[in-house]
Amino acid sequence: MPNYVVGHKIPDSDSICSAIALSYLKTTLGEETVPARLGELTPETLFILDKFGFEQPELKTSYAGENIYIVDHSERTQGPDDIDEATILGIIDHHKLGDITTSTPLEIWVRPVGCTNTIIKMMYDFHGVEIPKNIAGAMMCAILSDTVIFKSPTCTTADIKCVEALAKIAGIDNPTDVGMEMFKVKSAVDGTPVRDLVLRDFKDFNMNDNLVGIGQLEVIDLAIFDDMKADLEADIAKLKAEGNRHTVMLLLTDIMKEGSELLVISDNENLAEAAFGKATTDGKVWLDGVLSRKKQVVPPLQDVFA
Ligand code: MG
Ligand code: MG
Ligand code: MG
Repeated sequence: MPNYVVGHKIPDSDSICSAIALSYLKTTLGEETVPARLGELTPETLFILDKFGFEQPELKTSYAGENIYIVDHSERTQGPDDIDEATILGIIDHHKLGDITTSTPLEIWVRPVGCTNTIIKMMYDFHGVEIPKNIAGAMMCAILSDTVIFKSPTCTTADIKCVEALAKIAGIDNPTDVGMEMFKVKSAVDGTPVRDLVLRDFKDFNMNDNLVGIGQLEVIDLAIFDDMKADLEADIAKLKAEGNRHTVMLLLTDIMKEGSELLVISDNENLAEAAFGKATTDGKVWLDGVLSRKKQVVPPLQDVFA
């Protein structure tokens, strides 16, 4: 029975590329390990897999009785539903420490860097394993995605050095060009159902027993949303009404202007003002300089709920 590597629900490029890269490393080290995913892939991730010649990892949502590595998260709300029935061999992540616990000893690599793949590169270096060209390319793209081509405040020197090293292995001369190509794919939202956009990069957080769902769409020009903003607002209200969330937020991030318009629907009307010091007008507010959900949005919200 192989081990599995699985990232978070609503997988992004980091979750998928981490699963591929870690599986290869573990298998090379003698532990048969396969990558898996908890959901459908985004156009950005499909672009990366196609570019470097990978198949989609196996779609697998149940892990009862399996041995698994968790990548790119450590939150119970974001992992497999039956995670309690799996044996967790390791956690490799770059987010705040979540609430996943284990009953057996495990390997943990958690670092405050811009991307899980940066940590996995450290693991390859630690074990002295050479990274295959196509895996290096996929890892490089995941780092460019998570760090918003180095613009995100989550980006560290380690991430930049890692992209340089991976680009060299992959034979890519100008990684930022590949990054822009990727964000153009990501910005092509026209014709996509509104609910698909709301959930494209959506995460639930347990904030002091309040469920807070936060989606993010990163594009190269916010004007892309002009015609659909009203529909997006209506849909997050609908999503909230359908479930038991205290708050649903959607960050519309302009990676060139380097800020985000936040759409909010919440049981607490003053939540955005309390967290970000700026009140919403008609459920919307522009947050200048805000690019990172994990570093600039989740922590101030958590403080409000504390
Ligand atoms: Mg992720
Ligand atoms: Mg990540
Ligand atoms: Mg992200």
